[in-house]
Amino acid sequence: MKKLAAGNWKMNGTAASLSEVAALLQAHPAPACEMLLCPPATLVAAMVATAKGTPLQVGGQDCHVKTSGAHTGDISAAMLKDAGAAYVIVGHSERRTDHGETDALVQAKAIAAQGAGLIPVVCIGETEAERDAGATLDVIGTQLHASVPDGSTAATLVVAYEPVWAIGTGRTPTLDQIAEVHAFLRARLTARLGAEAAGVRLLYGGSVKPSNATEIFAIPHVDGALVGGASLKAADFGAIVSAL
Ligand code: PGA
Repeated sequence: MKKLAAGNWKMNGTAASLSEVAALLQAHPAPACEMLLCPPATLVAAMVATAKGTPLQVGGQDCHVKTSGAHTGDISAAMLKDAGAAYVIVGHSERRTDHGETDALVQAKAIAAQGAGLIPVVCIGETEAERDAGATLDVIGTQLHASVPDGSTAATLVVAYEPVWAIGTGRTPTLDQIAEVHAFLRARLTARLGAEAAGVRLLYGGSVKPSNATEIFAIPHVDGALVGGASLKAADFGAIVSAL
């Protein structure tokens, strides 16, 4: 399995930010892992152009469940595909919180992504209150079950475990806590998808940075990272790419 270093720019970046992408590609022309950046929709096509002929893949941060139609402000998976994207993040906790996205909606978006030929990066994660209550595996198990499409394969699914309390906070779970969740995810996916589950990339996300990437990537069943803040600068994201 090729590991995946994925960056989520969130609502950051203008055309000038593409210089960071050029710098990243200059420093890492042939990384050992797969490299993915998910810029805001305004930059998808331009980043695809910057990445042409390089190993960098480009993804969206969200998609609508429909292919086209009267949905002002939304973007479909087919449109992202048309712009040159290969992946799309669905169910990020910021969308679940800011836009009230449910597991059922996230699953529908993941199905739409797969139908358009994009690989969905399905995000799940517990809140701090849920972890404190000892409910982490229950919450994660429910989200995984209800957010992942039936019939997903290693080639059509990536799952990102992102504890909500670790996103953008500089705090991370202990290595044992990450190991516990990732082993649980692999077991649950194996029960559901059979042998395909072994090849599904399981990303850890939440305050990944150059200084903690190496120890996180050494954890069994951690097949890469979904990186927010540290994906905005070529030097930081490049160091994480090198650690995989
Ligand atoms: P962070 O964000 O790396 O800035 O914590 C991760 C994410 O939200 O994907």
